[in-house]
Amino acid sequence: MSDSLTVAKHRKNLQQLRAETEAAIAVMQATYDELDPEEAASDVGAGEDEGGSEGDLTRFERDRLRTRIVEEGLFLEVIDAAEERAKGKSWKTCARCGKPIGDARLEALPATDVCVVCKADRSNW
Ligand SMILES: [Zn+2]
Repeated sequence: MSDSLTVAKHRKNLQQLRAETEAAIAVMQATYDELDPEEAASDVGAGEDEGGSEGDLTRFERDRLRTRIVEEGLFLEVIDAAEERAKGKSWKTCARCGKPIGDARLEALPATDVCVVCKADRSNW
C-alpha cells in the first residue's frame, strides 16, 4: 500500500475522534442528568417496597456514567496532546522507544503516541 498516512489525514482522523468522543460525552451527560435517584426511589414507593432498590440502581448507574464521563474527558486531553504532536515532525514516532508507530496503528488509534510494543503497559491506546 502506497497511500501512507499524511499529517492532513491524521489531523482529520483526530478531529473525527474528538467529535465522536464529545458526542459520546453529551449522550452520557444527558442520560446522567435524566437519572434522578430520588425520583426513581419515589416511583417505586407506590408499589411493593423492596428496600429502595430502584433508587440504588439509579445511583449505581449514575456513578458508572460519572466515571465514564471523566474517562472520556481525559481522553479528550489525550486527543489534544496528539493534535499538538501532529504539529511537529515526530508524530509518527513512538514517544517511548523512538521507533515508528506505524501508519496502520495511527489510522486505527489516532490519539496514540506509542508503538504497539510500548503500548503493552498502557491501558486503552
Ligand atoms: Zn515504542
